[in-house]
Amino acid sequence: MQRVAPIEPGTGILDVEAVRRQFPLLNERIGGRPLCYLDNAATSHMPLSVLDAMDDCYRHHYGPIHRGLYPLAEDATRRYEQARATVARFIGSPSAEQLIFTRSATEAINLVAAGWAQPRLRTGDAVWVSRLEHHSNFLPWQRICQRTGARLRMIELRPDGSLDFEGAADLYGPRTRLIALSHVSNVLGVVNPIREIAEGARAHGIPVLVDAAQSVAHVPVDVVELGCDFLAFSAHKMCGPTGIGGLYAKPEHLDDMEPLHVGGGMVDEVDELHSSWAPPPGRFEAGSPNLAGAVGFAAAVDYLTGIGMERVRAHVWDVTRVALRALAAIPDVQIYGPADATRRAGIVSFNLPGVHAHDVAQLLAERGVAIRAGHHCCQPLMRHLGVPATTRASIALYNRRDDVDIFIDALQWARRAFV
Ligand code: PMP
Repeated sequence: MQRVAPIEPGTGILDVEAVRRQFPLLNERIGGRPLCYLDNAATSHMPLSVLDAMDDCYRHHYGPIHRGLYPLAEDATRRYEQARATVARFIGSPSAEQLIFTRSATEAINLVAAGWAQPRLRTGDAVWVSRLEHHSNFLPWQRICQRTGARLRMIELRPDGSLDFEGAADLYGPRTRLIALSHVSNVLGVVNPIREIAEGARAHGIPVLVDAAQSVAHVPVDVVELGCDFLAFSAHKMCGPTGIGGLYAKPEHLDDMEPLHVGGGMVDEVDELHSSWAPPPGRFEAGSPNLAGAVGFAAAVDYLTGIGMERVRAHVWDVTRVALRALAAIPDVQIYGPADATRRAGIVSFNLPGVHAHDVAQLLAERGVAIRAGHHCCQPLMRHLGVPATTRASIALYNRRDDVDIFIDALQWARRAFV
């Protein structure tokens, strides 16, 4: 397989066939069939440049980080810190030190909940989330509120899946200590107006955490432009490896946050009774860091940057629009979220009436179509929608309009099997 950059950076439409050649797994036959992968909101595949970067790291540049004085260890440390700078730049962080490597978006949110929110929440304070949050941006807040006596409050949804601010009159009220919202819903696909919310919050001195797990791979994300205080994300949803994610935070919050884990590498002085922490970001990265993961994360970021996030967004919109139109043309299909593809980021959830989402996904799997069915770790949202589960197709930069055709053909076939 050719190992070359897929396309020239810049503007213009995305050459999806060239992109696909960079993703080995997409070109394999799975169970004797070509793979039609539409489960990118769960995890995305990795291009050769990411696989090669991690392989090269293990073969030629592997060593302990921040510990050794010999060349291999120094090289490993330099590569780890370069990876931090690359990922930090990708999300517009003013400095590399504001980006903490975590295991995942989930760990990043738990760190803020336990290390930053818990020590400052008091009885009667409020943390706001929304009805569409993933459990990873819901349970950490629920637990911290239970522990501290703070109230977990919820922004409800309008029928099109957008946030209903009318029912959240005291969102910026005097007891609000934090607003924690996803940038893009992993079920409805809807893009939330984070910039506007953060602007309002800033005027009232309220910090905003953004769960960007579903946005970083599909839309340009810039923490300064968004105006957020914290931003959590995972490499494996943006063409990088599993086991590594990131937390961006403003310096004043980093200085004022307790580490989630304590142990090697995150301390300054340790004596028998008291210890002092190293400065951020090391303070929050106890234990031996994930070098190859960081290198793969940075390679994924370089890959996406090389293509251009505006071009990725335009392509994902195009395929999403085709999917929405085709689904809407199937009688009785219930589609969740906004009808306009440009208000989404690559995610389309739906149900066939009277058929369980799992049955739909299982039949589609027989046709080589990989989509997700279930509550998508969003049970409060499922209750609001009045269903136990939805079927979800999620689109990435390497999906073609052809994938939508294969998916819709398979869905028509499945529908005939049920009626
Ligand atoms: N938030 C959202 C919106 C998600 O979709 C996911 C993953 N499905 C997460 C958080 C958690 O990401 P991770 O499992 O990588 O920690």
